[in-house]
Amino acid sequence: MPVGNKITIYIPLRNEGVPVWRPTLGVDLGGDVYRVLPTEHCDPGDEEWEFLPGSVVRCQREINAGELLLIAKTALPLCPVCGYEQDVPPWTEDGASDEICPCCGIQFGYSDCAGGDANKRQKIYKEWRRKWYAGGMEWWSKGQPVPAGWDRYEQLRRVGVENYSGMTTNERLVVAGLLDKFDRAARNRNRADMVFLLTQVQLATGEAERIADTVLAHPKQ
Ligand SMILES: [Zn+2]
Repeated sequence: MPVGNKITIYIPLRNEGVPVWRPTLGVDLGGDVYRVLPTEHCDPGDEEWEFLPGSVVRCQREINAGELLLIAKTALPLCPVCGYEQDVPPWTEDGASDEICPCCGIQFGYSDCAGGDANKRQKIYKEWRRKWYAGGMEWWSKGQPVPAGWDRYEQLRRVGVENYSGMTTNERLVVAGLLDKFDRAARNRNRADMVFLLTQVQLATGEAERIADTVLAHPKQ
């Protein structure tokens, strides 16, 4: 089964009295590790899934009623910035771990406290990832050595980042669309549109400098 494929995995349900699993799709991340995807018609809030969509789980093959099922067993405590597996979960219901990710250097509960605002916290992670990327995605810790076989790209895939610019697939599609429009505006020498699209790309990514040069190369008419 190639990495990246989607396959049916089974998520244990809580508070059902007997062991019950909800089948859903998981993205194969290699080594029996999968990212949980939501199902179309099931509400994980209604059913109390042990592992929510978006989490990364290690699965085990088990025979249940004569069928071989891939059952989610444990959630991997991943750094939400770089995807490095932590010793303890960065955040639980009790709060932050206060640990520093040795890979990207973020400290949970300090760098990402965001006044308790979960949306703001996600923005902090994105920004931290961009800075880590811009700095060459180096291993952060001086005291803890780089693990053998360290693969930063595989790590990033675990947290849903599938290219090297720190963007998710959706973000990348948005930017690709904007860049298409930008190229068209440049061909038509429409500087106003170019400037407008530049700001749009700037909002969507931290990668606007390259195309900013193109705007400057087109003199005002
Ligand atoms: Zn990290």
